[in-house]
Amino acid sequence: MSTDILADLRDTVDALTNPTPVRNPRYGRDADGNKVQLDDHVVTLPSLIAQVAEIVWPTGGDSESARPVPSSRPPGNPQAMALHLDIWIGVARWHMLWCLTTRDTLESSIRQLLGRVASEDSDTQEDLLADLRAWQHRCEVVLKEAFNDPEIQTPCPVEGCGQRTLRINLQKKTARCTTCRSRWAEVPDPERGIWSIVGLADHIQTYEAQSRAAAADARAADRVLKEQRYGRSVA
Ligand SMILES: [Zn+2]
Repeated sequence: MSTDILADLRDTVDALTNPTPVRNPRYGRDADGNKVQLDDHVVTLPSLIAQVAEIVWPTGGDSESARPVPSSRPPGNPQAMALHLDIWIGVARWHMLWCLTTRDTLESSIRQLLGRVASEDSDTQEDLLADLRAWQHRCEVVLKEAFNDPEIQTPCPVEGCGQRTLRINLQKKTARCTTCRSRWAEVPDPERGIWSIVGLADHIQTYEAQSRAAAADARAADRVLKEQRYGRSVA
């Protein structure tokens, strides 16, 4: 029984504190034009805590020399900030209960709880699990709301994906695909699986221009058909 709780505790702590590699299959064409499977496209997503922290204190990530522009608007996102603080307080409460010394990052402080809880009774383990699960759930909600950016109809350009699930963050000039989890930014970083937003913008423009041309062709063909059928021009 208690081993199940410990496994659940470990999984929840991992989700909160460990980066997650996400593998996406990729396909290409060989010299004869046949579809072949390429090495998987692997993207490593930061831990949930790190993703929330990135919303609270956006690094901008692109240009280190750029200075923050003074503004009367507080930085970041209040929900993410409140959540980050709540987790800090919750973790601190467990640390005080067990007389532990808080570590320098929230992630390692949470992992420290995991080391300690194994020797506690099952009620205490359940209590900690309930806290961890609540934090995980709130992280997921905050992350989902923070990225409720415009949805566009152009399919994802990644080979083997092609789903209409691209999301654009106009403010940060970034994009991502919620199916294959590919990401695009102004400064591409292929090692981290981040591609050029300029290339994506070209793809979207080309696709939309082709769609408009195809729609115009379809309308023209329809007109010709009606003219043939009714023997007169139906402009
Ligand atoms: Zn995709």
